[in-house]
Amino acid sequence: MFRVERVAGGTERDKKEVLETLAERFESQDHKELEGIAIEKNPEIIKAISVADRATSAVLEKYGIDAGSIDANKVHVIKRDAWPSDDAAQFIFSHQCVLIPESENYMKQAYRLSHELFHFKSYQAGQILPDERMDYRVGLTVKTRDGGQTHLTPLNEAVTETLTIEAFRSDVFQTEYAEEIKKSQAIMQQNPEAQNEDGQPLFTDQTFFAELGPELDDGSHDIFTSQFTYQSEREAYQLLVTALYEKNHEKFESMEEVMRLFVTSTFNGDLIKIGKLIDKSFGKGSFRQLAGIQDGEEFLMTVKKMVASGNNLI
Ligand SMILES: [Zn+2]
Repeated sequence: MFRVERVAGGTERDKKEVLETLAERFESQDHKELEGIAIEKNPEIIKAISVADRATSAVLEKYGIDAGSIDANKVHVIKRDAWPSDDAAQFIFSHQCVLIPESENYMKQAYRLSHELFHFKSYQAGQILPDERMDYRVGLTVKTRDGGQTHLTPLNEAVTETLTIEAFRSDVFQTEYAEEIKKSQAIMQQNPEAQNEDGQPLFTDQTFFAELGPELDDGSHDIFTSQFTYQSEREAYQLLVTALYEKNHEKFESMEEVMRLFVTSTFNGDLIKIGKLIDKSFGKGSFRQLAGIQDGEEFLMTVKKMVASGNNLI
């Protein structure tokens, strides 16, 4: 489902043209920039896209959200050597698609695609600047009207990755990748003492994937793992939700209800309720203060201080 709802700035005619261009790109997926670097999709990646689409829809349905479906033609697999960034996958607003580099493991791909599909299915708005057209809103994030800065990224990623973990744990994901998941779990169970380079336990409650490397001279194997991402952001989000619930018992029946407000806002674009709730709970200006933070660690430290003091400090 095409999700761009509005365009800020420009004349009515410009707005209409931008919406039509984005809708056309969404439908046709005819992107010249991908010629020569996108590869044909094999049945395994088509399955991974379908699992991610169905798992994300199943999670959203629990929150009463219908953001429609994203089909395989809106995801493009990019040759490994042409992949430009450290990101595991990307949702591209301007081209209304998801890009993912080729990979050997399709369960991991389905997990990564779930994260990007939540971005793709979330609230979206564009904006018109004097010489540029770009995204203005994706989920909870807000670009400044000069396009220079993006606000609320850590909170948006926390909500998105928390939903992604729900998608990973959903029946559809667990059934479709039952064998893969069992394989990872067996490696974890057979190597309970495994440590990382810092001497810490290799497997945590955040580890969702493990595989053995080739056999070494002494007969042992290296173990490679993947973790759920945005751990600091999610920790901050949990602290924030817990504190908001404690301070607003009369308004919410449970912590889940507070979380539901964040999820709903990510998909309908309404920041007013969240903003008012945070300011009422921690003091005027608290929401603005959180919104400007770019870094996950800093976001966590600030939320910790806010929650501990009951008020904004900075
Ligand atoms: Zn993300």
